[in-house]
Amino acid sequence: MATTSKTRRTGMYENVKNQFERAAEVMGLDESVKKILSITNNEIVVHFPVKMDSGDVEVFTGYRVQHNNALGPYKGGLRYHETVDLDAARALATWMTWKTSLAGLPYGGGKGGIQLDPKKYSQGELERITRRFTYALGDNIGPEHDIPAPDVNTNAQMMAWIADTYMSTKSPAERSKNQHVVTGKPVGSGGLEGRDRATGFGVVVTLEYWAKQKGISLEGKKYIVQGFGNVGYWSAHFMNKNGAILVGVQDATGTIYNPDGMDPEDLLRYQTENATIHGYTNHDFDSTKFFAIDCDIIIPAALGNQITEDNAADIKAIVVAEGANGPTDTEGEAILLANGVEIIPDILCNSGGVIGSYYEWLQNRNGEIWYMDDVIMKLRKKLEEAFGKVLATSEQYKTDWRTAAYIVALTRIEMAYKQRGIFP
Ligand code: GLU
Repeated sequence: MATTSKTRRTGMYENVKNQFERAAEVMGLDESVKKILSITNNEIVVHFPVKMDSGDVEVFTGYRVQHNNALGPYKGGLRYHETVDLDAARALATWMTWKTSLAGLPYGGGKGGIQLDPKKYSQGELERITRRFTYALGDNIGPEHDIPAPDVNTNAQMMAWIADTYMSTKSPAERSKNQHVVTGKPVGSGGLEGRDRATGFGVVVTLEYWAKQKGISLEGKKYIVQGFGNVGYWSAHFMNKNGAILVGVQDATGTIYNPDGMDPEDLLRYQTENATIHGYTNHDFDSTKFFAIDCDIIIPAALGNQITEDNAADIKAIVVAEGANGPTDTEGEAILLANGVEIIPDILCNSGGVIGSYYEWLQNRNGEIWYMDDVIMKLRKKLEEAFGKVLATSEQYKTDWRTAAYIVALTRIEMAYKQRGIFP
């Protein structure tokens, strides 16, 4: 993965703060609400022991930051990565508050995870780590209080372990009422048809709207994707359905480039068989110049702080669709905007995931089973609504899309505080 001159950990929270302060100023956010939203509500840090396959015990550190719940229960993923720390969790939790508000969901924002490299652990170890983390969090999470979901390096299987562990701590009569403590579960365990592809689908839907308002088509457009996990793969899948051409992919295992285009399905097969994307094509290419590839669209779908002052000026694409959370830092963004590169901001672009999670939560809460077609249709509608609001707000305030997206999100939270007042 591209590295930058700034450390990822401290940078992310600074970026959220910069974005927040800019929007608060442009919209004239109420000072009391600004004070409340400038800091997180709760920050939970747990240390817990797990028995490794070798018989040794390792102690892990897990985080859950709950930024704000003015609009509903805390909602957001759990990330397993070496960069997870309190600062990263704070930043990611704060973005979730804006994301759920912008999408019009009855949720606040939370995020957490464990600082580890999952590749170093066996499946059995990962199961014990996940279960013990869930147990350590205890009732700091809950179906009507704080609802985790997948994020970087976590998946449906892990969500099933979380659900099972949490439900096992409840009395037999209460167990089945707690299935919606976590979303992104496998379909056989209360998961939602379509939740797997919801984020990538949403990324492409926002690109379709972007193209529509420019009077262009995605067909024949060249694009690159950073990250080929859940978000990267599904984004590529739906881009190709639109006739767009995948010319470059970068992830933790390598960087590949083919100006003639690559088939995402074939690449997925290669990645599954080889546990790497490296070697899929052999075109000569300077991997440090990934974002400088000649293309129309960039989809960063991996980690934060990837587009920075080190590489933003080299970007030839006309739009960056932020599948990841916080992929563009403050300096990188200023360069992109000055160069006329548009940004579909993360809190809009990747919100399909949490919208899908909301449908899963409703499905479990109401004892229903939804059809894929309905999920896809509802997702598209919600994203269309959010995109329309961002567009209108950017015109009203004559501001960039990220600031506009923040204004839509903040206005809704501000209203809730104004109506309810501050206890006591
Ligand atoms: N981790 C995803 C995100 O950053 C999904 C969160 C969720 O579904 O709660 O939006």
